[in-house]
Amino acid sequence: MPKKYKERSLIEFQKEFPDDEACAKHLAEQRWPDGFVCPRCGHKEAWYLSERHLFDCKMCRFQTSVTAETIFHGTRTPLVKWYWVIYHMAIDKVGVSVAEMQRSLNITQYRTAWLMTHKIRKAMADRDAGYSLAGLVEMDESFFGPKGTKPGRGSERKSTVLCAISLYRDRQGKEHPGFAHMQVVDNASTDTIEWYLERLGCGPTTKEGHDLLKAIRTDGWRSYGRATKRKALYARTVAKGYILMLT
Ligand SMILES: [Zn+2]
Repeated sequence: MPKKYKERSLIEFQKEFPDDEACAKHLAEQRWPDGFVCPRCGHKEAWYLSERHLFDCKMCRFQTSVTAETIFHGTRTPLVKWYWVIYHMAIDKVGVSVAEMQRSLNITQYRTAWLMTHKIRKAMADRDAGYSLAGLVEMDESFFGPKGTKPGRGSERKSTVLCAISLYRDRQGKEHPGFAHMQVVDNASTDTIEWYLERLGCGPTTKEGHDLLKAIRTDGWRSYGRATKRKALYARTVAKGYILMLT
């Protein structure tokens, strides 16, 4: 999958998406990278009704909304506010507060803001499903929860999160974390890890899955070792620590 995104600083983002018009233009470019095409008759010329973000086909007069069939479909919230929520959700590593988002963007209803974050998160997850891990993969488990609660496997109060991170080498041969996949799980048992490996597409049934399984490195915790052994493969043992590079 080609890398289509571009990193923007807060200032750059503000400059590029100052109002609804700029957002609608950007959205139209994403939907029709080679120019507008009427979904009904295929004609390429249309009038643009900027107030309602509509393309009005010059041939059949069919009107197509820029937001039709996107997560913004039928929204009454200005696109510029949507874009800001997306921006915050994409850059914030800790996770955004819906209430704070609602206040700072002047969104009247809490429910509206909540629905927006929900739709965006779903869209992000759908996009993530299209990516796959490649190259060297570092796999680890991590625990998230209130300060002072007991860390470690089998803890009652912290959430267990399984992490798999693709590592790529730069020209100097130094390893860097690339795409990461994380999953909150009930426990880090052999069954869970086996299920997670399958979800990641690791397994002896396909060549890609076999290569990926061989590429996985972990700190060699027992459940993980058993899960890979069941698949007749062994994980190489390395020290923990890559997850820290992402935080
Ligand atoms: Zn048409």
